[in-house]
Amino acid sequence: MNKNDSDIVIVGGGVIGSAVAYHLMRHDNSLKVTVVEPDSTYSKASTTLSVGNARIQFSLRENILISQYTFQVLDKFENIMAIDRYKPNIAYRREGNLFLIDDAGRPLAEKAVDLQKNLGCQVEWWSPKKIKEHYPLFEPTGMAGGSFGPLDGHFDPYAFLMGYKNKAVALGATYLKDSVVELLKSDAKVQGVRLASGERLAAEFVVNCAGAWAADVARTAGIHLPVEPVKRQVFVLDTMIKPEKPLPLTILPSGLYFRSETGGLILLGKSMVDDPVGFDFSWDNKRFAEVLWPELAEFVPAFDHLKLVRGWAGLYAVNRLDGNAILGQWPELKGFYLANGFSGHGLQQAPGVGRYISELILGLPPKLDLSCFRPHRVLENKPLSEIGLV
Ligand SMILES: Cc1cc2nc3c(=O)[nH]c(=O)nc-3n(C[C@H](O)[C@H](O)[C@H](O)COP(=O)(O)OP(=O)(O)OC[C@H]3O[C@@H](n4cnc5c(N)ncnc54)[C@H](O)[C@@H]3O)c2cc1C
Repeated sequence: MNKNDSDIVIVGGGVIGSAVAYHLMRHDNSLKVTVVEPDSTYSKASTTLSVGNARIQFSLRENILISQYTFQVLDKFENIMAIDRYKPNIAYRREGNLFLIDDAGRPLAEKAVDLQKNLGCQVEWWSPKKIKEHYPLFEPTGMAGGSFGPLDGHFDPYAFLMGYKNKAVALGATYLKDSVVELLKSDAKVQGVRLASGERLAAEFVVNCAGAWAADVARTAGIHLPVEPVKRQVFVLDTMIKPEKPLPLTILPSGLYFRSETGGLILLGKSMVDDPVGFDFSWDNKRFAEVLWPELAEFVPAFDHLKLVRGWAGLYAVNRLDGNAILGQWPELKGFYLANGFSGHGLQQAPGVGRYISELILGLPPKLDLSCFRPHRVLENKPLSEIGLV
């Protein structure tokens, strides 16, 4: 094999690319896997700009099954990813997720809770009274209730990414500091990639793990992916009145979400229909002051006195078809695999997705059938339904 040949090239070394690389190497450490990633600081990667949440509270069966596997992985992650005496510390905190439900949302929410329970998940339906008993600062009057996942929680996304990346490297994967500028193909078969440095890497398999940049990468082969970079903002608050115990990730019917952060702080965010499309990482306190804070203070009146400490903006790779992942080989280009369009839940799907994509490439029977996310559905315009998108 020549120096510029690989068995598999992975475009993008965020959590998805790194999880794919890890699983490939774990199956077969004689593989030549090259991960192309331009930014080793990950300053714009969605992975490091996320809020680090994992939950079983989804409504699509496969999304729930992915999360069940994620929970298993999170529990033993530090041991699985240990290298000699080094163990990553992902600071996994099972502080729960609470979805508030209004009357309009109740039928679908109850159906989702039933499905989660039938699949063996821990989830409870809470009345407004019970919500108030657990979290006295909340004002749930007017809500139908809420679904609470006690094992849902959050962890350190950067440490999680580094766990996958370092282990993939320890098993023999190579990370190359460069950008893919073109997918090379011949006769509807991928041949490799051309890099910004001018080099070409030949490979039989190329995996698109470029997150919010995924559609740009696909476009170089004439493929249209319905994945757009959408700016999402997060705000860090220091409230005058502190909750007595950590607040779970709490999601209001409007999509506003908040949770306790270490150091007695609160994280707050909301996906909004007018969030701009593009590679814009600026954040503004106007949106916080005019839209998010009034909504927060209505549900948590004690938070009408607080200090905005800082904020940040990151990108969701929004799949405009249905907000769900697109996983598998692109039907019109052999050897070109996609792991794209995760919208706001890709971090927690990395374990299942990394394993699944590696199984597809290596021709192994998938441990978890994720074929419902196949790229065909994009061409056929067949969206999946998921009510648990945040
Ligand atoms: C504010 C916010 C909060 C979120 N909260 C959560 C959450 O709580 N839970 C959850 O599960 N998910 C959350 N997400 C979503 C989650 O962060 C993403 O779905 C996930 O990180 C996607 O990982 P990725 O590896 O696909 O993308 P990224 O982490 O963005 O990695 C893609 C990489 O590709 C590289 N790249 C781009 N173009 C090229 C190219 N041409 N060649 C080579 N490399 C390239 C980039 O440099 C980047 O490092 C959140 C996202 C945001 C923005």
